[in-house]
Amino acid sequence: RLEIRQISRSFDGRRVVDDVSLSIQPGQVTCLLGPSGCGKSTTLRIIAGVERQDSGEVLVDGQLISDGVHAVPPEGRGIGLMFQDFALFPHLSVMGNVAFGLSDKSKARARVEELLARVGMSRHIDRFPHELSGGEQQRVALARALAPRPHIMLMDEPFSGLDDRLRDDIRDETLAVLKAEETAVLLVTHEPGEAMRMADEIALMRDGRIVQRGAPYHIYNAPADRAAAAFFSDIN
Ligand code: ATP
Ligand code: MG
Repeated sequence: RLEIRQISRSFDGRRVVDDVSLSIQPGQVTCLLGPSGCGKSTTLRIIAGVERQDSGEVLVDGQLISDGVHAVPPEGRGIGLMFQDFALFPHLSVMGNVAFGLSDKSKARARVEELLARVGMSRHIDRFPHELSGGEQQRVALARALAPRPHIMLMDEPFSGLDDRLRDDIRDETLAVLKAEETAVLLVTHEPGEAMRMADEIALMRDGRIVQRGAPYHIYNAPADRAAAAFFSDIN
């Protein structure tokens, strides 16, 4: 379980994340949705620990991991990351990539095989990234991110590099895998259609603030204000 409390961050005197609070439950996908530049990636980077907040707290499973002064380093947070440029290690096989973050090498093989079966990539275990299509690389990247059993998965526009048809398939597959692993997911997107498709809950962000939170159908049917309604009107 992930909770953030009153997170703020300014750059050059401008507040790009402004008093954001959120909590995310295991087995649920929360979509942080909003237009370009509203502060989504910065929020995610603060949670991951690769950007610091000016104020506010990050808690994982009830434990304070960062208050802006004291912070657990990114690799100690039990958080998996999947970003748009999910680059696999080019010199490592699929096996090597997925096993990369696993410290117990004796159990690594079984875990890698389990995950590759889940994402339908078992037969490619010995291939290298340049021998895989974009969609296949995406599947391996998902397996890699999930291998250490993160309680929380942060995903920043993870499907934006894929063509339309493939994107739908990979979204659905990814959802099924994340549900099976009972991971709490915070997924960033600027596409209302993607949030409608993937989210259990949407947090709508604008100008650094969460302006509305709720189930997708609720936000779609009862947007908080005119700007939220306009944002949803060009859904695809
Ligand atoms: P997009 O959908 O385009 O990815 P976003 O919602 O993820 O947008 P952020 O990347 O969080 O937006 O950026 C929010 C604002 O903060 C932007 O105006 C951006 O230019 C600014 N910003 C982000 N990082 C920095 C930085 N390190 N220094 C200065 N400004 C920054
Ligand atoms: Mg972004």
